[in-house]
Amino acid sequence: MTPIGVIESDYPDKFGIPRQPGLATAARACLVLTPPFDDPLAVRGLETFSHLWLTFVFHQSPPRWTPLVRPPRLGGNAKVGVFASRSTHRPNRLGLSLVELLEIDTRRGVRLRLSGADLVHGTPVLDIKPYLPWAESHPEARAGFAPAAPSRLPVDFSPATEATLAERPDGDSLRELIRQVLAQDPRPAYRTGAESRTYGVRLRDLDVRFRAVADGADSIRLRVVEI
Ligand code: SAM
Repeated sequence: MTPIGVIESDYPDKFGIPRQPGLATAARACLVLTPPFDDPLAVRGLETFSHLWLTFVFHQSPPRWTPLVRPPRLGGNAKVGVFASRSTHRPNRLGLSLVELLEIDTRRGVRLRLSGADLVHGTPVLDIKPYLPWAESHPEARAGFAPAAPSRLPVDFSPATEATLAERPDGDSLRELIRQVLAQDPRPAYRTGAESRTYGVRLRDLDVRFRAVADGADSIRLRVVEI
């Protein structure tokens, strides 16, 4: 197969990317079609759809797989079959994401502006298909070990990081992106409580450092301590 395009996204690194699309709607991405697929004729009519399926390659995962994987949803301990999971470590390394289409720009080549993608910058995309809600939406469906969206953590910002955001032209959208990404708790699945360790996620051109701090007796919040 030949990729039809490549993703430019707010996520320079795999670490920290939400585990499914739509969880961080503030995340902007652009699918840039590559020759010979960058023909505006190939996307004629696509602008009438609000959501798209993207088929892509988990190009940053090693090309090896095992029959059993440990989904983060199960705390990283219990194992399920690779085909019962959305793991990136799978035969053929194929990914499938439903994303919102914001705009199609055909001024120079073809660029599709997207919201909510869960894809690292540079991801090769193999195909695009319009989403058909009447055929593909089943709210009553059983969703096994992932029956609902993951719970979200509260997130706050230190005064210094607020000041950094205030100086940037994209400060508001960046604050929202950081909030939505950290709300998913990007730490390893077995880390659930408060801890003194500082973690980092890269978003846009920044390294965002955060810590898990106690928030009452048995809950935590994530605090952005450095940007
Ligand atoms: N929605 C897709 C699916 O179900 O096939 C992806 C699900 S996968 C669990 C989501 C994770 O893939 C993200 O959290 C990110 O860390 C990782 N990821 C995104 N783009 C990738 C890439 N190009 N190569 C390897 N891993 C990637």
